Amino acid sequence: MIRRLPESVVSRIAAGEVVIGPFSVVKELVENSIDAGANSIEIELRNGGKSYIKVKDNGHGMSKDELIIAVKEHTTSKIEKFEDIYKLSTYGFRGEALSAIARVSRLIITSSSGVESHRLEIIGGRVKSIEEYPHSRGTTIEVYDLFFNVPARRKFLKSAISEQRMVTEIVEKFILSTPQISILYKNEQEIIYHAKTGTLKERFTLVFPEVKEFTEMKGTYVSGIISSPDYYRKNRTGQIFFVQGRYVVDKMLYSVFETGYGEAITTGRHPYGVIFINIPPEKVDVNVHPQKLEVKFSNPKEIYSDIIRTIREAIKTFISKKIYIINE
Ligand code: ADP
Ligand code: MG
Repeated sequence: MIRRLPESVVSRIAAGEVVIGPFSVVKELVENSIDAGANSIEIELRNGGKSYIKVKDNGHGMSKDELIIAVKEHTTSKIEKFEDIYKLSTYGFRGEALSAIARVSRLIITSSSGVESHRLEIIGGRVKSIEEYPHSRGTTIEVYDLFFNVPARRKFLKSAISEQRMVTEIVEKFILSTPQISILYKNEQEIIYHAKTGTLKERFTLVFPEVKEFTEMKGTYVSGIISSPDYYRKNRTGQIFFVQGRYVVDKMLYSVFETGYGEAITTGRHPYGVIFINIPPEKVDVNVHPQKLEVKFSNPKEIYSDIIRTIREAIKTFISKKIYIINE
């Protein structure tokens, strides 16, 4: 028999599209904090995020009315009409994250717009209370017991250590892409990262302290930092790309390292690089599924050759230094 699923089941299945585990909750909440104009963000986990996730910011906050609307499905303050997605300056626009998180957890949002300050409690999507509550300008979101009402999903969460590691990987991407925002990241009271406001160079050193020789680079569409060929990993976890500020994973993009470094590296050695690609919006489609990390360039060749040219130019600093050392 074919039957229509009850609304409560449909909404929990849909929530699973956005909320995969603690790492995706942290990603969505930090993106919201950045969209809210915060320059200071605190992230805290307990039990790898499985029991507790907190994201606190000093952004523009929400009024009581905004709080109530924000947790409903498909509510956003970031776009008004479909065309707006083509000139997006925010991470968010789907209005799905908060409502999805609210449906599969016990959620407490405390927020102050600077004028008024409230605390909203929701359990499994149901509003339990909203009351006046002190908070400095900004928002604190606390997520307790993720998937408490979706046992099948709860069961598939990994160990606290593995979940925490996945969150750390996400936090590292934010540390690298937003040097202008101070980020404090704790697990069980232990500070994992305290990234003060600074430069990309400082952030690079914080995330990759093992890299002692690197250089900044700048091309037409591309900028960032790459390491000397003497510093490398055996996998690609030290190679990170952002397109219009969003982290992307793209097989073709990785190959610019091989082409750019050429004979300076041997097979299986992957130098470090944090590479930002910023191109006119009409040359790229980043409007893919929220969990998909690939990118579509309208003219990939133009972008790749710009990156390769920029890498080749930048690695000359390392090579010329070697010649200099030999001549000494
Ligand atoms: P989206 O980010 O796609 O708009 P979300 O469900 O993530 O959708 O958030 C819904 C709305 O709630 C946002 O559009 C924003 O207005 C508000 N909001 C969420 N998080 C914050 C925050 N940290 N500070 C201020 N407003 C927020
Ligand atoms: Mg959002």
